[in-house]
Amino acid sequence: MTYPQRMLVENLAWSDEISTRDPAYFQRLANDQRPNVLWIGCSDSRVPEAVTRAMPGEIFVHRNIANLVGEHDDSLASVLEYALVVLRVQHIIVCGHHCCGGVQAALRPPAAALPNVNRRIEPIRRLAALHTTELRLLEDFDERADRLAELNVLAQVQTLHALPLIQDARRAVQIHGWIFSMHDGRLKALTDPQWALGDTADAHEAAG
Ligand SMILES: [Zn+2]
Repeated sequence: MTYPQRMLVENLAWSDEISTRDPAYFQRLANDQRPNVLWIGCSDSRVPEAVTRAMPGEIFVHRNIANLVGEHDDSLASVLEYALVVLRVQHIIVCGHHCCGGVQAALRPPAAALPNVNRRIEPIRRLAALHTTELRLLEDFDERADRLAELNVLAQVQTLHALPLIQDARRAVQIHGWIFSMHDGRLKALTDPQWALGDTADAHEAAG
């Protein structure tokens, strides 16, 4: 069985399980979507918005290489417009991650086989140049890339704040910058340090 064939089989099992548990679930899903959040994340297969245990209908999503907010990115602009004007989301989360291939590539010479990726990650190269002093203090390449991934999230949050679409809707929308650590599966709120959760027990308590 190929992986796509397996996906279809798993989907049958998944939809059956949900229908058995909650017979009206898919009817509700068909009627409307009312997501509270727009998630701008990386295309990386290891960091789906499902790491927050979100269910279908809860999060509106845009993902691209290295979770970039391009001022002239038509795809992002249309997602953003729909999220703000039609869905009226209250929060936008830019979620980057450690071990990000896109960010790591921005610290290496451009790869000849990846002209499109090179063009997309150019802003990260410029960001790395802006933060050369801080990044040079980190001797390990992976540490340097992980820090750049965090700086990249903060830069995208800043870019979002300045977009006319956001300026118009500003009062209704909060923008957050998060980073996902591949090593422990935890999300860290870079722009909301007051939301930091303690150990697992505290986290469960806070969530409950
Ligand atoms: Zn990535």
